[in-house]
Amino acid sequence: MIPYGKQSIDQSDIDAVVETLRSDWLTQGPLVEQFEQALCKHTGSAHAVAVNSATSALHIACLALGLGEGDSLWTTPNTFVASANCGLYCGAKVDFVDIDPVSYNMSVTALEQKLQLAEKDNSLPKIVIPVHFSGASCDMRAIHALAQQYGFKIIEDASHAIGGRYLDKPVGCCEYSDITVFSFHPVKIITTGEGGVCTTNDKTLADRMHRLRSHGITRDTDLFTQAPQGAWDYQQIELGFNYRITDMQCALGLSQLKRLEEFIELRHGLADSYDVLLEPLDVITPSRNNDSYSALHLYVIKLEQCDAHRRRQVFDAMRAAGIGVNIHYIPVHTQPYYQAMGFKPGDFPQAEAYYACCLSLPMYPDLSTQQQQTVVDALTDALQQVTS
Ligand SMILES: *Cc1c(COP(=O)(O)O)cnc(C)c1O
Repeated sequence: MIPYGKQSIDQSDIDAVVETLRSDWLTQGPLVEQFEQALCKHTGSAHAVAVNSATSALHIACLALGLGEGDSLWTTPNTFVASANCGLYCGAKVDFVDIDPVSYNMSVTALEQKLQLAEKDNSLPKIVIPVHFSGASCDMRAIHALAQQYGFKIIEDASHAIGGRYLDKPVGCCEYSDITVFSFHPVKIITTGEGGVCTTNDKTLADRMHRLRSHGITRDTDLFTQAPQGAWDYQQIELGFNYRITDMQCALGLSQLKRLEEFIELRHGLADSYDVLLEPLDVITPSRNNDSYSALHLYVIKLEQCDAHRRRQVFDAMRAAGIGVNIHYIPVHTQPYYQAMGFKPGDFPQAEAYYACCLSLPMYPDLSTQQQQTVVDALTDALQQVTS
């Protein structure tokens, strides 16, 4: 089976991890801060807080921005459930903004319309989480302008997008957001096994997220709420978690970060080849946008003249041919848990129409030209079988 995504681990990655195993620190050692520094250098952000997953990163980002009961968080339905669940973890209400039918990202027009309505009935969101779907940045300048006007905070869910650029700056620089989150799960662009990070330019937010990562404990006597008991003292001043990342993971992350640029170039080469190879087929290839240089986590096509039944047939034929195609994403509001909260099919028609026709083709740095041809041949056959 050719999978849809896969990590690329070379000898330098293996050596880096093994070296940590022989060192004094397996976790909470020097590599965590080194990894954070390297991420700041890459993104141009002032601070980075590395944690054990992007899901944890989203959770502490929401808490640091003060999300709680009575607040609302809005995100896109075309995402992984984690982008919405973080709001529920904080006791907030979650709602969605429909997508743009060309970029498959959150529609800025739909966002603006929803904000206008929300302003009238006093239900404006506290946080909006745009997701850079497939690695291409949302229109952050426009979303930021709306944030100024309507007074919400922005967390960029850039789980797909490390190595991508927006208006010629690295995604994660937080020029148009409060916090950016990246994921280092193995299917993403670079990996630490499990892992994630928050970047920000706000020191207060960074300090808070560092504290929330480790139980809400501080050793900074200036923050103590009671007199220090001695040099051993640490004080828990709020409720945090164990969301720590290990030195072993950060060793891998540091090594992978060195290979990031090469990974992105390889992904672009593969996307260019797909664009050409798929030209004769009845499929819509991913759009390109001059404002953003995609990290190309995913290569998603849409089938023409499509409905859910036809897409399912193509999906099944591809899987039967040994091609690990996938679907990104089942609209979050149609998940049973969200339907039980009152959402229903039909609520976000663009995301649902997109979902009925989308198909993610294999895309990862080590995918060979020959494998790529195998994918396209299988798709050609599958489309023929289904139409005949
Ligand atoms: C993968 C992903 C996450 C969750 O990342 P983890 O590191 O697995 O917690 C969140 N949002 C999006 C858009 C993702 O693709």
